Amino acid sequence: MPNKSLAKCPVCKKPASAESKPFCGQGCKDRDLLQWLGEGYRVPGPPADYADSLGLDEKD
Ligand SMILES: [Zn+2]
Repeated sequence: MPNKSLAKCPVCKKPASAESKPFCGQGCKDRDLLQWLGEGYRVPGPPADYADSLGLDEKD
């Protein structure tokens, strides 16, 4: 298999390293994890309250 390291780092698009697959290194690995966690905190759930208040206010 000559093209066994075709994978690219999803963070910086550099060729992935064998040790930190699929990332190019520990730095990008950590960054991706932090980004993932950040997004998780940012999306606690759908804006149900907003939709509900809109529906309740619709008394025209
Ligand atoms: Zn990278």
